[in-house]
Amino acid sequence: MRSYFGIHNHTMYSNLRLLDCINRPQALIDKAIELGLSGITITDHECLSAHMEVNQYAKKIREENPDFTIALGNEIYLTDTRDNGQKYYHFILIAKDALGHKALRELSSIAWIHSYVDRRMERVPTLKSELEMVMEQYKGHVIATTACIGGELGSCILPMFQAELNKDIETQTKYYNQIIDYINFCIKVFGKDDFYLECAPSTDAEQIIVNHKIYQIAKAFDLKMVVGTDAHYLTKDDRPIHKAYLTSKPGEREVDDFYKFTYLMTSDEIFELMEPYANDWDKGNKTGKELINWILDNTQEIQNKISFYSLERKQIIPKVEVKDYKKGFIPSNWFDKYPIICSLINSDNIQERYWVNECIKALQEKQLYDNKNYLERLEIEADIIKDIGEKLDDCLFAYFNTFQHYINLFWECGSIVGPGRGSATGFLSNYLLGITQLDPIRWGLPYWRFLNKERAELPDIDIDLAPSKRPAIFKAIRKERGELGLVQVATFGTEGTKQSILTACRGYRSEEFPEGIDVDNAQYMSSLIPQERGFLWPIHDVIYGNEEKDRKPVQAFIREVNQYPGLLNIIVYIEGMVNKRSSHASGVILYGDDPFDTASFMRTPSGDMITCWDLHKAEAAGDTKYDFLVTEASDKIITCYQLLLKDK
Ligand SMILES: [Zn+2]
Ligand SMILES: [Zn+2]
Repeated sequence: MRSYFGIHNHTMYSNLRLLDCINRPQALIDKAIELGLSGITITDHECLSAHMEVNQYAKKIREENPDFTIALGNEIYLTDTRDNGQKYYHFILIAKDALGHKALRELSSIAWIHSYVDRRMERVPTLKSELEMVMEQYKGHVIATTACIGGELGSCILPMFQAELNKDIETQTKYYNQIIDYINFCIKVFGKDDFYLECAPSTDAEQIIVNHKIYQIAKAFDLKMVVGTDAHYLTKDDRPIHKAYLTSKPGEREVDDFYKFTYLMTSDEIFELMEPYANDWDKGNKTGKELINWILDNTQEIQNKISFYSLERKQIIPKVEVKDYKKGFIPSNWFDKYPIICSLINSDNIQERYWVNECIKALQEKQLYDNKNYLERLEIEADIIKDIGEKLDDCLFAYFNTFQHYINLFWECGSIVGPGRGSATGFLSNYLLGITQLDPIRWGLPYWRFLNKERAELPDIDIDLAPSKRPAIFKAIRKERGELGLVQVATFGTEGTKQSILTACRGYRSEEFPEGIDVDNAQYMSSLIPQERGFLWPIHDVIYGNEEKDRKPVQAFIREVNQYPGLLNIIVYIEGMVNKRSSHASGVILYGDDPFDTASFMRTPSGDMITCWDLHKAEAAGDTKYDFLVTEASDKIITCYQLLLKDK
């Protein structure tokens, strides 16, 4: 059996706007290897959220399978306008290299920044003018294909074909011209070499027409044709689960026809589906087998253009502009006693000079300057910060300067800032910079719990803000750093044990239960899941027990679920499936001049800008999180103050 490169495949991150796919990223890659593909591309629906996980997994795969290529792409919606009521045409972009991936991040962010609701669905189209503008900087780094039957090409071919049958020349010409304009646009933006026409293996009558016409267009324009299986589930056997998953949300999708062939296929399956009709394409010159071999070769031509790159970067500490303290006078007896403090005072690094001078100034103001306990403690902390910064290959002093800058801004915005919580209160320098408000020497708080040389990682400082002031604070920071200068960290919701039972029951259909399972029965079934310390047991423990945790199988649940053959399979499969996006309660990331260097952005359903990756993945990409917690009590304290001042 020959091999080919999978150019168009979805993961569960395609579910972030609508239920669509049941593939877990790693399982999808494993299955592609098992089926003999030579590589695979991830192309979720306007979403890059799977990319970090996939890129990290790709590194592992390369160790054993160096020839297997894992490419990162995006199935975008490509339109001329952001008008309501229009068709949102699918279009595939695939990054060739790291720069190509930056183009994807930039384009995806533009789409999400301008997202809107049309016919009760969130819409995230990319305008052709935006694609053209961004691609000017990245030409040669991104490959494009015409995507599935939902692309502009597929959407024009069908009505054009119908008009041809009806001898409606006017309509036929209209679509014919639209196709010509579209193809010319794509060639202009991507070049003939990096633009491919995509067909799909299927026995569906419409898809057969589209495939044939695409072959004719490829011939006419001297373009290459590729095949994509648009995988939304792994194999044929997983189709009932996918079907149940999509059916679980009423009225949302055309479930059956489109998805019949949208799974990972071997090349044999592609031949089996397409060869019978491809034999007619070239009128006796080339056989269907030859043509399909050409199409599969073209997928591997794409593969050969992909080079491996990593999305991971060392974490970058965001900087703020600081006052330029000049190198200064140092008392002669300090050089032996406080060598690190001295080196900072005379450092070439403005951030280091700022940090140490601000600390010393605060010691003087607080009349602690002559107390050697304080200078000794400051020396210890300076040594630790310097050491960890060197290990992280960045100036860690800047982290605190940035924090101080924003704490001052919070006060200016009318919020109070809590005195400090957790280990951050153990650092004298935090107190001196105004980040915390407790003197750790006076209260005997240890420094080493906050930072120590054995743990070369960025610190974690939790601060408390007034919730009512948060919008003003965010606005002020964005005014200073730009609209994307502050972005909340994304979190992704998954199907929990109870939810996966309810979802599976809603989507379940069988001969005996053609309308699915009664809501009361579903509720009853989900109520049988035991809870422990606020957490529900996972379905595995419910069915098989868990000796380590002293859990026995829950017979009542097993009896119930077994009344519906196949239901348990669905529950097990969809448990843990990513299905929604939201923002982290407190984590924000501060971006510098070019946020797309490390990141890409989306919006939550309520419109807040969020990163496209969750915290761990964003940190892996080089971002640094700051925790700006809000505490209800802060607002109450502010109000009390105001009342007290009024009655004074
Ligand atoms: Zn599509
Ligand atoms: Zn697709």
